[in-house]
Amino acid sequence: MSESPTGASSGPAPFDWMAPALQSLEQSHLRRRRREIIPRPGCRAVVDGRDVVNFASNDYLDLAGDPRVVAAAQRALTSSGVGARASALVCGRTPWHVALERRIARFERQTDALLFPTGFAANLGTVGALVGKGDVVFSDRLNHASLIDGCRLSGAQIQIYDHHNLGELARALRDTPTTGRRLIVTDSVFSMDGDLAPLPRLCDLAEQHAAMLLVDEAHATGVFGAHGRGVSEHQGVEERELIRIGTLSKAVGTLGGFVAGPALLIDWLWNRARPQVFSTALPPAICAAAEQALEIIETEPARRRQLFERSEMFRAELRRAGISTVTNAEGPIVPVLLEHPQRAVQVAERLEQAGFFVGAIRPPTVPPGTSRLRITLSSGHDWRDIEQLLASLSSSLEAC
Ligand SMILES: *Cc1c(COP(=O)(O)O)cnc(C)c1O
Repeated sequence: MSESPTGASSGPAPFDWMAPALQSLEQSHLRRRRREIIPRPGCRAVVDGRDVVNFASNDYLDLAGDPRVVAAAQRALTSSGVGARASALVCGRTPWHVALERRIARFERQTDALLFPTGFAANLGTVGALVGKGDVVFSDRLNHASLIDGCRLSGAQIQIYDHHNLGELARALRDTPTTGRRLIVTDSVFSMDGDLAPLPRLCDLAEQHAAMLLVDEAHATGVFGAHGRGVSEHQGVEERELIRIGTLSKAVGTLGGFVAGPALLIDWLWNRARPQVFSTALPPAICAAAEQALEIIETEPARRRQLFERSEMFRAELRRAGISTVTNAEGPIVPVLLEHPQRAVQVAERLEQAGFFVGAIRPPTVPPGTSRLRITLSSGHDWRDIEQLLASLSSSLEAC
């Protein structure tokens, strides 16, 4: 008990509970540590004074530092300043925003598109604009936190189905009575596993049960499909009626989220997606950069092909070395499963000492007992970097 200046006794200080709570995270090897990373060209970085090859980033096509993307941002900065000055509906929608909306719509072969400050905001806002109280949302257990939070915030009833368990989803669709709307939400590439949602069968189920289907292509935009239009393109469901969300923060190398679709949907979201209505628009320079990056994604498909070739070679080498990864994954997200969080952290530390930066992913980001290294490849890596990572990985796994 402490004395307040007036002499009245008060309870414990308001933040006292935090120290033991952090201590308990520490004991379970789940406490997060902030790092300072200095990005360098060629998928390199400096961490704690050490040069490393970065295998933890989502910059799959090496566009975040591309000189053409940087120059586009610089031109817009010079003429428009830094901030957007208000939300898009007030006065934040500049010619750079309009041009990017059109560019995204063209890229995605849709009529219209809408920007959000982040992919997280796009998911929160879109789910909340589509369903509410009295409606039901059906969600894969391994969906991204932003979809989970979008479902929770929406006020709709939530039915979670086990990862990829479409039998369970079909039963839930059949057995959950509602007079309201129904929405199925799924990642297209699951961010911590690198496996793909079965979109054709999800489309069938949505049609059979008169449900809407929302697909989060955050890790797929620019990466999957012959033209980079995501898993929707890769699995041939672009003509079906889905709500497609993407992010500009990963393969596009910039920042922001978007929805591309028919004019009616986009118009509804302009009116009802709260993070879009109540948050400041993206900086114009970011829009200019993203537009340039999309141009590169369209005109340089070799980046994508090379990324896939190497990802498949890397996976094959892991299998040959007997290293356990997610079996049905495709593309540049390559998890190495280690079960215990302490081991994930130890192996990641060893790799860092050897000059390789990889993510150690622990609960609650992944379910308990499935801690892992999350290795991500980029078209900017040399094959030699990847070979050296493999050698270091084998010896670190033996040592830990
Ligand atoms: C990263 C991610 C997001 C959030 O995107 P940001 O643009 O980084 O906010 C949404 N969904 C998935 C599946 C993601 O991996």
